[in-house]
Amino acid sequence: MEPVDACVRGAGAVGCTLALALSRHGLRVALQGDRELGHAARPLDVRAYALNAGSVSLLRELKVWDALPGDARTAVYDMHIEGDAAGGTLDFSAWSQGVDALAWIVDAAELELALTSALSFAPHVRQVASAAEVPATLLALAEGKDSATRERLGVAMPVQRYGQRAVAARLVSDIAHAGVARQWFRSPDVLALLPFDRPEVDRSYALVWSLPDERADALMAMDDAAFEQALGDATALGAGTLRLAGPRASWPLLLARAEQVCGPGWVLLGDAAHVVHPLAGQGLNLGLADVRALVDVLVARESWRALGDEKLLHRYARQRAGPTRAMGQLTDGLLQLFASETPLVRELRNRGLSLVNALPGLKRLLASQALES
Ligand SMILES: Cc1cc2nc3c(=O)[nH]c(=O)nc-3n(C[C@H](O)[C@H](O)[C@H](O)COP(=O)(O)OP(=O)(O)OC[C@H]3O[C@@H](n4cnc5c(N)ncnc54)[C@H](O)[C@@H]3O)c2cc1C
Repeated sequence: MEPVDACVRGAGAVGCTLALALSRHGLRVALQGDRELGHAARPLDVRAYALNAGSVSLLRELKVWDALPGDARTAVYDMHIEGDAAGGTLDFSAWSQGVDALAWIVDAAELELALTSALSFAPHVRQVASAAEVPATLLALAEGKDSATRERLGVAMPVQRYGQRAVAARLVSDIAHAGVARQWFRSPDVLALLPFDRPEVDRSYALVWSLPDERADALMAMDDAAFEQALGDATALGAGTLRLAGPRASWPLLLARAEQVCGPGWVLLGDAAHVVHPLAGQGLNLGLADVRALVDVLVARESWRALGDEKLLHRYARQRAGPTRAMGQLTDGLLQLFASETPLVRELRNRGLSLVNALPGLKRLLASQALES
């Protein structure tokens, strides 16, 4: 096979975005997937991702964002968080942050389709089977959390399992969402409703409900009516009466970070490098920020440096170490704080929410961190 500049292994959202971004800079790219792009060999992804401004701007530059159907991307204007005691609430708004939207909720399956379609027009990208041997100056691994190549390279990725699963589904409410994302921290579970426009414009939500394994299994096993009843109880009908609009799916939750993200001729990105709890909706945002950082470093390299030069790749690793560690600590810290049943901790965390709510400066700082990742 003809040699390429970069071989991207793994054609999830991060790998596809990286291949597109590299091709845009005239680099010859081989994209290795474990199935043919655009021919989903797995059930449709029911998730919707909350994407921040940094991710949206990258996808826009790559002509992916504007190719998404209008009802597959919904702006979030406000966010309402409820603790597990009366008065423990926290509100953010795009208006007080001085931004157009706090985040955008994007259909996972449509994002995959838009990336696939953009790749079919990318001049320098060749799609190849995963088993193919591709001579490349740089091997970029975006194989997801169970990356086999990372393991073959001997890179350790210690995993902390939360003993929780995230249950995801699409819902329709009897009242309009008004662009408000809602989240309930209900020791020990965390329930998020992300405003969405599919299947019904203005009245749909994407649900991400993280719960201890046993409870998640029970929810998955319930019939639709019992599940909807459980949802109504958990949200106290705060978002109206919610009905299921499709199947449910669930994912095991963990925290993990590779001990090394680059070496001579190879680099890790996305979930292959770090996995965080989805309570802050930041996993893919981190992966897309990896793409941005890696491409910037590669494009700015000295003319005599090869793409796989380890010193060059360390520049990328250094840039990404801080944000990925911080996001892991933040999501883990929040989860531990809200998992505790101790009355004093419970009192403090709910007061903490109200305190942050009363301090506009601190609130702006927290929100701006999440907006940019
Ligand atoms: C319930 C839930 C909700 C979430 N919500 C959000 C959210 O709101 N916002 C957000 O930013 N993030 C969210 N995330 C996180 C987000 O889903 C992940 O961070 C993101 O999908 C990781 O993308 P990736 O491309 O790195 O990995 P993956 O999506 O895992 O893709 C890796 C791809 O590589 C393929 N592959 C593996 N091995 C090989 C091989 N050897 N050769 C070729 N191909 C291979 C795999 O089949 C797969 O297609 C959520 C996660 C969960 C579980």
